[in-house]
Amino acid sequence: MSTDFDAIVVGAGFGGLYTLQNLRRLDMSVKVFERGGGVGGTWYWNRYPGARCDSESVYYMFSDRFSPQILDEWSWTERFAGQPEILEYLNFVADKMDLRRDIQFDTAVTAAVYDEANNRWEVTTDDGARTTARYLITAVGCISTTNLPAFPGLESFTGESYHTGAWPHEPVDFTGKRVAVIGTGATGVQAIPEIAKQAAQLFVFQRTPNYDIPARNQPLDPEYTTKVKQNYPELWEKARASGFGLPYQVSEGSALDATPEERQRVFQAAYDKGGFYIGLETYSDFMVNKESNDTISEFIRTKIRETVHDPATAELLAPTDHPFFTKRPPLETGYYEAFNRDNVALIDIHGEPIESITANGVRTPVREYEVDAIVFATGFDTMTGTLFKMGIRGRAGQPLERKWADGPRTYLGLATHGFPNMFMITGPQSPSVLSNMPVTIEQNAEFIAGLIGHMRETDADYGEANEDAEGRWVEHHNELADATLLLGTNSWWVGANIPGKPRTLYPYVGGVGPFRDICADVASKGYEGFTLASRTRA
Ligand code: NAP
Repeated sequence: MSTDFDAIVVGAGFGGLYTLQNLRRLDMSVKVFERGGGVGGTWYWNRYPGARCDSESVYYMFSDRFSPQILDEWSWTERFAGQPEILEYLNFVADKMDLRRDIQFDTAVTAAVYDEANNRWEVTTDDGARTTARYLITAVGCISTTNLPAFPGLESFTGESYHTGAWPHEPVDFTGKRVAVIGTGATGVQAIPEIAKQAAQLFVFQRTPNYDIPARNQPLDPEYTTKVKQNYPELWEKARASGFGLPYQVSEGSALDATPEERQRVFQAAYDKGGFYIGLETYSDFMVNKESNDTISEFIRTKIRETVHDPATAELLAPTDHPFFTKRPPLETGYYEAFNRDNVALIDIHGEPIESITANGVRTPVREYEVDAIVFATGFDTMTGTLFKMGIRGRAGQPLERKWADGPRTYLGLATHGFPNMFMITGPQSPSVLSNMPVTIEQNAEFIAGLIGHMRETDADYGEANEDAEGRWVEHHNELADATLLLGTNSWWVGANIPGKPRTLYPYVGGVGPFRDICADVASKGYEGFTLASRTRA
């Protein structure tokens, strides 16, 4: 078996699968290493009850660029697809395109070292094997390293414990059990209503309330799906040119230009439509104008107060410490209603901090909550966590985590100076998590394949982001970030969920369409900002 390839790709989720296909189109030999036992990435691991996509399923898939046949053959059953259906889709894609033969499953990368003398990457995996390649492409996802906070006594708990991001493959039955869920982000918000239906008693530990928006999921009418399929060419173009990778009708105006009555009508219509329409199709300045943001924040708080029967619980669930959309707003299905059930109690960690995890449950200054199971919905070390775990070493043995010690430094989020021939899918400082991921992933993978194709055509085998181009990108990225309200809120978008992580905006806020245009311009200028050369000794 060969241990030497043109390219090594890490990860077999949306990003890895599309990258593999694009590199095959260049006739390259490719090896994909995947930590999981199957394809799917985030959808392989996140099997918790209620796990569902927050992008509408008809847009959360590969476009015709991957395969017109797959686009035509696959039809979703729900407006927001559940985890099992998305995993089925990605398996369908892998089978149809015969992708598995290049993927080695159950294999984690433990080191990836650039060998300067030979201009190759040497990758070590947890089976002890060493594999080399000219190019290293990371498609490791943005939300793939779980965060389990170091609660005192964590190890002493004798009941069942789960992290939503590493859920067992067999369904977990909470029937008749006492359960604690810690965390109320997008994941907790999806899991809590489902667990509440089974558990005898559910204690929800909340640190920060979110502005949860109703998803209004429903079965998809086949007629609607057919219409979407007919309009795909136009819809994909619109999504690619948009701010968030979705073909929505984005408003240009400020909420402050509307009368209170108009605003109410616009908010209500988008709220009734469900999903992210309320953030994207109403007014355009929520991320940059606090006063405008106050109007929508209050609208959602009012909805929470109207839904939750107990006024004290409603007040705890209504966020006042940060503006709407400065943290990722979860989509909910029956979340607020769950707190009207007799078997569900909300514990506000600010008023009643978690002192420790005990053998029997969760202790606060008020009491010990005895439970049979704890579900940690405590999120992830996003954007950089997985990259840092891979032991990536660039020129002169420089560790990636040392280069990024004060925050990521990238060129377009796709490459970083000092790490030649290494490219990233949805890396920090690219639109990534501020977009509908498949649309962004396609653009990233195509740019990288275009760059490598260009190098091969021009006999270059060494491609590195220039330090000055990187410096200008970081400056541009930060300038856009500084103009928003995002840095003022504690969220994983700015690294605030992980103690000691540099506080900076990790995803690029300039929008999917503008980012695409910038990349196209870079490519049209012969990949301006990259040093492309022939370095390999004969
Ligand atoms: P998250 O949004 O980071 O939420 C983690 C939760 O745990 C927060 O409520 C957080 O409180 C709490 N927490 C963290 N550390 C804690 C501690 N030491 N003590 C008490 N509470 C603590 O993580 P997530 O819910 O897993 O979601 C992560 C991201 O995954 C989402 O933002 C979204 O982008 C993505 N996601 C996507 C989908 C989809 O549609 N495709 C579905 C689910 C999730 P604080 O808020 O105070 O930090």
